Amino acid sequence: MLILMHPTATAREVEAVAEKVESLGFVPHKMPGAQRIAVAITGNPGPVDPAHFSQMAGVAEAVSITKPWKLVSRETQPHDTVVTIKGPGGSVARLGGGVFGVIAGPCAVETREQTLGAARAVHRSGARLLRGGAYKPRTSPYSFQGTKVEGLKLLAEARAETGLPVVTEVIDPAHVEQVAEYADVLQIGTRNAQNFALLEAVSHSGRAVLLKRGMSSTIQEFLMSAEYIVKGGNYNVILCERGIRTFETMTRNTLDLGSIPLIKRLTHLPIIVDPSHGTGDAASVPALARAALAVGADGVMVDVHPDPTHALCDGPQSLTPEGFEHLMQELRAIAQVMKVELA
Ligand code: PEP
Ligand code: MN
Repeated sequence: MLILMHPTATAREVEAVAEKVESLGFVPHKMPGAQRIAVAITGNPGPVDPAHFSQMAGVAEAVSITKPWKLVSRETQPHDTVVTIKGPGGSVARLGGGVFGVIAGPCAVETREQTLGAARAVHRSGARLLRGGAYKPRTSPYSFQGTKVEGLKLLAEARAETGLPVVTEVIDPAHVEQVAEYADVLQIGTRNAQNFALLEAVSHSGRAVLLKRGMSSTIQEFLMSAEYIVKGGNYNVILCERGIRTFETMTRNTLDLGSIPLIKRLTHLPIIVDPSHGTGDAASVPALARAALAVGADGVMVDVHPDPTHALCDGPQSLTPEGFEHLMQELRAIAQVMKVELA
């Protein structure tokens, strides 16, 4: 249920509604809007009788939410969420609501030279956030597992030097506090998209979250995963389409760009596209990144490595700094046509 307050409702009247929700044993969520505030209710096992609220001062309407993902639904919040990420030295990166954000960097943090090299290059070309995995969730236990806390320190160094906020993956609830010390955005990878303990842990991390779609998640399951994070009070969630498993074997994944316009209608959260993991193929990345912007996504996340042929992880899908610079020029041209902001 969603209780829509009058535009003139006072803070006290909103509070009285929230208290009433609590007195019924449910959880109130205040949702500020452009014109008026709404109070969403969760924790109710069945439908809530609107009569509890319809006569209260300041209440305009009590409506039921039809979608099972409640807080992330457009029904609950019609306007786009703009995720704002504060970096070092007062830098700010925004995603959503007409701002297209580019996140770029190596798949994995390897060495100081590689990390700083990638960070400087993507910064120079106009990326707004730096990506890099320190804890790597690898399919094979014999593959490179990441540089872990040493990698986090290298990301922090690159962040301090370039001013780019950092996105990095967290793979274990026990690591959340440590990763949040170094990173601005905590990434949940495709393999953990339904690790509900991890979703709850990042919900309380105080950091924005980049949630990738599970490789076998339906759109509904994807939004439910986001709901776990938002339910804990963290609205700074960026969704990321990174391809799903299909019968096709010639691409690494099937990048589901068709999901983007639908997801934009279903949720107010920003959704970005990862064409690198989506295709596994550097030659296909620019076309899919351009398509992501044209199809209405709020950003892209692109693997960039100073020396892709020697990358310890995902070299074949990584752009060179030159390739990335070229892509950024193309994206700027498309952004003008699409009337979105791309700094
Ligand atoms: C990544 O972005 O480094 C990654 C491991 O991606 P995914 O979870 O989409 O495979
Ligand atoms: Mn990767």
